[in-house]
Amino acid sequence: MAAAAHVLVLPWPLQGHINCMLYFATGLAGAGVHVTFLHTEHNLRRLAGAPSSAAASPRLRFLSVPDGLPDDHPRSVDSLLELAASMLATSTGAYRSLLSSLSSASDAVVGGFPPVTCVVADGLMAWAIDIAEELGVPSLAFRTASACSFLAYLSVPDLLESGELPFPAGGGGGLDEPVRGVPGTEGFLRRRDLPIQCRRRRSDSDDVDPMLRTLVDLTVQSRKARALILNTAASLEHAALAHIAPHMRDVFAIGPLHAMHPTPSGSLWREDDGCMAWLDAQADMSVVYVSLGSLAVISHEQFAEFLSGLVAAGYPFLWVLRPDMVGVSQATVLQEVARATGNGEQARVVAWAPQRDVLRHRAVGCFLTHAGWNSTLEAVVEGVPMVCWPFFADQQINSRFVGAVWRNGLDMKDVCEREAVERTVREAMESDEIRRSAEALAQQVKRDIAAGGSSATEFQRLVGFIREPGI
Ligand code: UDP
Repeated sequence: MAAAAHVLVLPWPLQGHINCMLYFATGLAGAGVHVTFLHTEHNLRRLAGAPSSAAASPRLRFLSVPDGLPDDHPRSVDSLLELAASMLATSTGAYRSLLSSLSSASDAVVGGFPPVTCVVADGLMAWAIDIAEELGVPSLAFRTASACSFLAYLSVPDLLESGELPFPAGGGGGLDEPVRGVPGTEGFLRRRDLPIQCRRRRSDSDDVDPMLRTLVDLTVQSRKARALILNTAASLEHAALAHIAPHMRDVFAIGPLHAMHPTPSGSLWREDDGCMAWLDAQADMSVVYVSLGSLAVISHEQFAEFLSGLVAAGYPFLWVLRPDMVGVSQATVLQEVARATGNGEQARVVAWAPQRDVLRHRAVGCFLTHAGWNSTLEAVVEGVPMVCWPFFADQQINSRFVGAVWRNGLDMKDVCEREAVERTVREAMESDEIRRSAEALAQQVKRDIAAGGSSATEFQRLVGFIREPGI
């Protein structure tokens, strides 16, 4: 037994990845493991002064490597491949030297931290796993998305081979046709529920979207890691986990992490706490909370449809509108919300909310969300009914699980006309059936994370695994 375990944790430097890997790091530190959490320099500067930059435990510290992009680069959804390429060119060298120094015995016990014994890298950074193994440091892959989306990416090579992908050209691509070949999803998975990059048609010049190819390659490469860690619970994604297991050396389902290892916020944006007082003034379960996460962007037309639908639904709503989210100025957005609501109290707009606190608030009646995996888990744990308008990546499949498997909400996929927004929000707010499913799901997941539950037990098994010398 090697007691002095020290794990280097590397998240892909986007909000959703940072959040859940920070919960994970906090949990490890709480279990007596030393953890170095590796941000990019850009993000560490953005976080300076935020509670997360002060470590929650003396066994947790934050270091950084450059990402190679200028500070004023948007790092937006359109430039994710650019960020990946820049990190490959720049961060890899800095990471290699840092890991080489932190893992060498001669560098032991600097500031009370023993040498690094293990790397847990975001599965989107396959290079971090390769470099660690080259340096003789055992490495594990952490995927921050759902197990069902991981399985979908893992199935793409078979879907290509069987001709399920690319979708046929013409006729709208038959997006409501069932998909065969993602095991365990028979009977509910449709073409439109696959990751959005799968929608390229057979007639298009390149058969496979470059982003899809990258995600599939990275998913397949996760097999090289000593184990795969997923922020999910067995009771939520039992079938997907069972189908993933034979492809990996080991799999740990240890979530929802935010509910197991609460930590101060790791928000890259300043949280506007003022909305909590506004929520305090609202009636129980009366408010629609609207947030599309940290990356989604919407057109001005889509914004106008959401706004009209929300106003027509008639409930008070709290809307997170990041300044970079709608293709018009923030002043225009605020004026249009004020005009649509008659300058009244129906709406509150913030640039960024303390989302976990908002979802926990008694006034919130439903969550209109892009179904990002963190947001989905946060709503599930609080038993808040969801209305999903998925944007990209795993969100298409997550929202199908919400609407058709767990039934704790409705899936508005591909539609945001005002009538649909109004109708769907009303149904989510008023349906006893959806609320009962949401509450039952919350209870079920709480059993997973309680002592002796599957996620708590898997987390303990993972800590033991990490402590094993040579893994
Ligand atoms: N979030 C937040 N405040 C906001 C909007 C989002 O704190 O106003 C957090 C949210 O709680 C979640 C994360 O940002 O933990 C978003 O991750 P998710 O996987 O849901 O979506 P992504 O941003 O990756 O698309």
